[in-house]
Amino acid sequence: MYRPQNLRIPGPTVVPQAVLAASARPLINHRGPEFAALMAALTRALQDFLRTQGDVLLLTSSGSGGMEAAVANTLSSGDRVLLFVNGAFGERFVAICKAYGVDARRIDVPLGRAVEPDLVREELAKEKGKDAAKAVLLQHNETSTGVLNPLREIAEVVREADRLLIVDSISGAGAAELEIDEWGVDVCVTASQKAWGAPPGIAIVSMSERAWKAYERSDLPKAYFDLGAYKAALEKGATPATPAVTVFIALQESLRLMAEEGLEAILRRHQNISRATRRGIQAVSLALFADEAHASPAVTAFRPPTRVDARNLIRVLRDDYDTIVAGGQGKLDGQLVRVGHMGFVTMTDMVAFFSALELALKDFNQPVEPGQAISAALRAYAEASAPAPRTRPAATVGSRR
Ligand SMILES: *Cc1c(COP(=O)(O)O)cnc(C)c1O
Repeated sequence: MYRPQNLRIPGPTVVPQAVLAASARPLINHRGPEFAALMAALTRALQDFLRTQGDVLLLTSSGSGGMEAAVANTLSSGDRVLLFVNGAFGERFVAICKAYGVDARRIDVPLGRAVEPDLVREELAKEKGKDAAKAVLLQHNETSTGVLNPLREIAEVVREADRLLIVDSISGAGAAELEIDEWGVDVCVTASQKAWGAPPGIAIVSMSERAWKAYERSDLPKAYFDLGAYKAALEKGATPATPAVTVFIALQESLRLMAEEGLEAILRRHQNISRATRRGIQAVSLALFADEAHASPAVTAFRPPTRVDARNLIRVLRDDYDTIVAGGQGKLDGQLVRVGHMGFVTMTDMVAFFSALELALKDFNQPVEPGQAISAALRAYAEASAPAPRTRPAATVGSRR
């Protein structure tokens, strides 16, 4: 029997049929005029969504390559930086800095909690003199715990202290509010397979003027990830080496679908769906992992029932109910279930997720009434999305994908 999967991991996300179809188009010359037009359109659309007039560069790599590029292009050997870590992706920035000989002072925040602007202010106040930290690095959305760090307020603190702000918004951009220019984010990284709903293969890196000044001074080794080369190539409508042409074409289609919906509506949809998801999980007596005040609009992490290993729950969801969710990373392996709701996700997808969750919990002898999570989630969703009066007859309200 054909059983479609409900792919609910926090990336790769569900790729709409139109985007899949775009990725099946014939290849084009990556040095020709068609590709140059594609690059120009992609860049413009991404600048719109990322709210920046600055450079947006497209690297053929996963998001981690973008993180590496952010470090290698703006810092120098022995530079001191402040690295705020509230999850597994913070650890990745630590590893990259270490590999490049950057003197990263890490500040750990308890998992499930956000990096608070006051903490950033306090830590920056300790950085004085000629060896003071040059940059602050952190995640916007920490995908491993489902925490959205208050980037707007953090950026304000970093701007006051006049340091470089390097942000991994790989899973935040396109799902959470992000104003690169207004907030003053110098380097921001995201990736095609997260909220952009395209296949994996493209890292997207924005560079402010301040970031380019830092690039001029930076002495860290860089070749494939030399962003100066990407900027020069972009002026000719190309990339320094052969790009993942197919993914570039697919991403353009994703961005077209996103532009149809509009950024504001996209962000509202993520907020409403994430709130509904949290209410559904709590309705079946499961504990949310992240501090509710900083809950991610892109992914929700929760604890399995007592005496149930999260890995077993995840296996039952997959094998018996075709629902693919993620587990805890690093220290949280076996302790967390993470359900993704970023990109092209609808409330209907989440109702399907909750159907599977309710059935799986039953299999683990949990006291769950049919529809308990679903109705709580739907109620929260209805409250959040009301009371938009219907202006069109129901029959013309088409499906989005
Ligand atoms: C997914 C993710 C990464 C890693 O991206 P890859 O494309 O797997 O290299 C890094 N940081 C965050 C916050 C992520 O969500």
